[in-house]
Amino acid sequence: MNFWVHYNKVHKYSKIHANFCGCCNDGNGMHKLPGDNVEWVGPVDSIEEAKRVAIQNGWNPTFCKSCLGALQYLTNKTGITDSKQ
Ligand SMILES: [Zn+2]
Repeated sequence: MNFWVHYNKVHKYSKIHANFCGCCNDGNGMHKLPGDNVEWVGPVDSIEEAKRVAIQNGWNPTFCKSCLGALQYLTNKTGITDSKQ
């Protein structure tokens, strides 16, 4: 498993996804189409690395509740904190 950082240039938000996420599709996005308004950075090996990459780009990443929320629930060792919860 690896991780991708998604950035929406229009709405200026960043989200970290696992590669298996339906929103991510290994960095191809939900509709498997390249978009002018979105950027995917990855793959990276860990959530920590994804977070580092996002912050390096000046983004303030949140975590996808769909893929990483489930992962956190299952493993309870992802160390995910989401200030918006
Ligand atoms: Zn996701």
